[in-house]
Amino acid sequence: MALVNEHFLKLPNNYLFADIAKKVNAFKVMHPKVNVISLGIGDVTQPLCPAVIEAMHKATDEMATTQGFHGYGPEQGYDFLREAILRNDFLPRGIHLDMDEIFINDGAKSDTGNIQELIRWDNSIGVTDPIYPVYIDSNVMIGRAGTIEDGRWSNVVYMPCTAENGFVPRIPRERHVDVIYLCYPNNPTGTVITKQELRKWVSYALKNDTLIFYDAAYQAYIMDPEIPHSIYEIRGARKCAIEFHSYSKTAGFTGVRCGYTIVPKELTASTLSGERIPLNPLWNRRQCTKFNGTSYISQRAAEAIYTPEGKQQIQATIDYYMQNAHLMLDTLRRLGYEVYGGENAPYIWLKTPSRAKRPELHSTTRSASWQFFEELLYGANVVCTPGVGFGPSGEGYVRFTAFATHENTQEALQRIEKWTIQQ
Ligand SMILES: *Cc1c(COP(=O)(O)O)cnc(C)c1O
Repeated sequence: MALVNEHFLKLPNNYLFADIAKKVNAFKVMHPKVNVISLGIGDVTQPLCPAVIEAMHKATDEMATTQGFHGYGPEQGYDFLREAILRNDFLPRGIHLDMDEIFINDGAKSDTGNIQELIRWDNSIGVTDPIYPVYIDSNVMIGRAGTIEDGRWSNVVYMPCTAENGFVPRIPRERHVDVIYLCYPNNPTGTVITKQELRKWVSYALKNDTLIFYDAAYQAYIMDPEIPHSIYEIRGARKCAIEFHSYSKTAGFTGVRCGYTIVPKELTASTLSGERIPLNPLWNRRQCTKFNGTSYISQRAAEAIYTPEGKQQIQATIDYYMQNAHLMLDTLRRLGYEVYGGENAPYIWLKTPSRAKRPELHSTTRSASWQFFEELLYGANVVCTPGVGFGPSGEGYVRFTAFATHENTQEALQRIEKWTIQQ
């Protein structure tokens, strides 16, 4: 008899974005003529830049010839891309990495989900709350998260990040945490971590033998020169941290699929008997067994964003989104909303005002996040993401993304303004 992995059954049934889509569709069925604007899902809208397109065309043409054909590539990625990463993303920040500390991936979601295979099933994990759901769900699937009660997993330590603590998570002291997930700039709150705060985490990790999984998917959005782009800007981080990068938000690669993961050679974890085991060879072994590399065309495309033209072009798109973010911040603040993020990240995190104008909607939910979501959908025809979908501390907040077009962002803000004034 094939027995199912019952840990999957513990996962809450509904995926956040499926719930949102269902509610939006219900609205559209009732109001077929209304054009709904989504500032909800975190996908980008601007096309790939010309340098990337050119590189992809060139790589495709190569693939059409016997000499230029590329079949299976190295599981760790091609050296041309690993070299470009070293030279552009790390050396200018004074970080020296070896090529074989870089593993090219097909996007950061896979690796942030898969990385937990390197640690025993009974490690405890800690997450900032709210958080990108992949970190917890991938641990649930393997049985590491324990059981869920009131939206909290028994073997997960939640470190609340709310307006009350300025979105600075407190280092857990009550309970030992073996592995900590950090994501900065943060999805969903759009907030960042200073070098000084990050130093505290590295020193905690070194002292407590805690492993840090650091998701830097949004580092390209950092505008403030004081904010770290990589955890390896902090001394000692190579001994305790694995870092994830993605070209999805950096260069619009959500449909192309490419990113990379850094596993430093100095990084070790312990066996039960106390022997230190380097994780780099383990991850290499894992990748060689379960991953056959990112496509040659995607890797050539990624390489192109490090050319002078590529850099300038992707920056123009990032600036485009950040203009949206600034317009959203300015408008929402002017309207009296309490908003966070949006300065070094493409997300705006809005505290839902306590208002109850449409009591008929409340029957479906008692959550302030969902209530605001529905009021905004029905009142302004704009879609946001209920913060509670990202964890218990997201309750009472919603997320707006800056990834829409200028036109849609402006139109959505005008509608929100009109709707707010009417309240
Ligand atoms: C979008 C995103 C990623 C990257 O996903 P890809 O698989 O690279 O497209 C990783 N982490 C966070 C927090 C994200 O929001």
